[in-house]
Amino acid sequence: MDAPASDVRALAASGRLDEAEALLADHLSTQPRHGEARLGWAALAAEIGSLSLALDELRAATREAPDSVRAAAALADLAGELADLGVEHPSVMPPVDGPPAPPPTEPDVATLARYLHAFGGREGVHARQWVSPQADGTLRQGYAPQQIPLTPRLAAAHLAGDCSLGTYLIRLDDTVTFFVIDLDIRRKALAAAAQDHQENRRVRQVLAASTAAIEARLGAHGLACIVEDSGHKGRHFWCLLQAPMAADLVHRFGRALLAALSADLPPELSLEFFPKQGRVDADGLGNLIKLPLGVHPVSGRRSTFLDRAGRPVETPWATLASTRRVAPVEVMAAFEALRADAAPPPPSPAEAPTPQAEAALRKVIAGCPVVATILTRAAETRRIGHDERIVLLHSLGHLAAGLGPIEALFRACPEVPLRDVPAKVRRGHPISCARIRARVPHITATVACHCEFPCLGEYPSPLLHAAGAT
Ligand code: SF4
Repeated sequence: MDAPASDVRALAASGRLDEAEALLADHLSTQPRHGEARLGWAALAAEIGSLSLALDELRAATREAPDSVRAAAALADLAGELADLGVEHPSVMPPVDGPPAPPPTEPDVATLARYLHAFGGREGVHARQWVSPQADGTLRQGYAPQQIPLTPRLAAAHLAGDCSLGTYLIRLDDTVTFFVIDLDIRRKALAAAAQDHQENRRVRQVLAASTAAIEARLGAHGLACIVEDSGHKGRHFWCLLQAPMAADLVHRFGRALLAALSADLPPELSLEFFPKQGRVDADGLGNLIKLPLGVHPVSGRRSTFLDRAGRPVETPWATLASTRRVAPVEVMAAFEALRADAAPPPPSPAEAPTPQAEAALRKVIAGCPVVATILTRAAETRRIGHDERIVLLHSLGHLAAGLGPIEALFRACPEVPLRDVPAKVRRGHPISCARIRARVPHITATVACHCEFPCLGEYPSPLLHAAGAT
């Protein structure tokens, strides 16, 4: 360690502490070391005032050499020093949970591949977590994007606790392959729990009860998930998808899910949903989430998967392999159920349409490939855009037999507010073909939108295909 150590000391001696810390951190990120061999690096980090680096080294040393009296004593000394500085140091009193969990059994290459397949998000980039003590005694932490892909080697380093990595959820094609509910203890409750063992136990019970309730609620919607103790202040519920889904759709689903779950949430806890955005700019990345099963650099605790009773599972790789992947159709069904719970649907029109009205509807759909395409696509994907809804409402919505199909379609598309379901037949002028082309050019340009109507004196509209049917 001579050359880098002397360089670090030289930088520190010249007052360039940030550069000294950066050089040391950079060196440690590539330097193989284990157990008590970390003590010298920890001492150097403390010497230049980088207590977070020192803390990381000592935690790793005590983890790798649990019988080392020197490592334990050095960690105790540093904890005392941090306490003297007034730094809130979670390892002095575990905030809400018990002792650190042991690392999972070392994953083989196939397991690392499965791990990355499950939790790897955006291509070509990941995030690295950093922690830094501040002059005012607080700890700052954050993530820095790394423009290199997550590799099995990086995942192994994260799992070994050598670094802490995050993944950006939204992929380059604006899809996601998983979503996460993040249940956290609020800062105020966390501070109170850190001061008092009774309160600590109570908050822990509140967290456990809410964890079980959320898991049960997800299960009731058919959403299998992996529950993770994040290693810091809460729980993550990972729902892994069978197939990629549009991020904006999943994001909207998440808002409905959070609204439902928040109704029963105790005041000590908060909820978030990832992805937090529906899409990201071309040069943006969106929010990230920390990869599971690593060591949290603030608390020093390892993330673990939990079983149904809330106990850490000893075989996380078996949990990862056996957890059922959620089908997109199951997400859509859950979305639909949440929407129906939130707002009871309006009553359906009472009168059944006449045979003549049914015939008019069939003629319009048969004559207008634009309307037919909107109906078919929406039925297949269970998604329908605002402009497509306008076209249906202002064409089929003028027909007595048109309300039923529109209502059925809107109910099947969870993103459509139930207030958009038409209650009665529209009067006045239907939408013109010209307006339809302006509204949905992505459809009119792909079908034969060029009908010839014999009715002189009337403007072109899909309803003219039903002329004489009613
Ligand atoms: S011309 Fe009018 S009726 Fe014909 S396909 Fe286009 S929108 Fe439909």
